[in-house]
Amino acid sequence: MALRKIRTQEDEILKKISKPVTAFDAKLQILLGDMKDTLTKADGVGLAAVQIGILRRIVVIDVGDEHGYMELINPEITERGGEQRESEGCLSLPNKTGITLRPMWVKFKAQDRNGNWYEAEGEGLFARCVCHELDHLDGVVFTQRLAPGERVKATPHN
Ligand SMILES: [Zn+2]
Repeated sequence: MALRKIRTQEDEILKKISKPVTAFDAKLQILLGDMKDTLTKADGVGLAAVQIGILRRIVVIDVGDEHGYMELINPEITERGGEQRESEGCLSLPNKTGITLRPMWVKFKAQDRNGNWYEAEGEGLFARCVCHELDHLDGVVFTQRLAPGERVKATPHN
């Protein structure tokens, strides 16, 4: 088990675009293990590699629903539907929340840790989390996805 340091808002790396994963090697397996440990320890629902300083298109998610724990490598949203306005936060933006506008449902494709492509879909928190984490891969954070008329709120603790 290895915990990695979660980068926070002052860190310019969060604005950078992550590169595709091309090698599904032992190094990737170690990174995925560390991402899972780091996500679990932080009690989060999703983590993108850029949040621990690695500019690769890797996301891990566990929103506590029937999807369970998932690894998304080189993910792409292929379909979306509906909309939702819910409060969102981010491990990299501690003490901030905001009501975002996101699709209610998404379908995506991604590779697993062995490079095999798969598809998955989900709604509600799962869809919100997929959108949030995939945004990180393109240097976008949730404060750029606020619903019209909403603003970022400071929370006393996180
Ligand atoms: Zn985030």
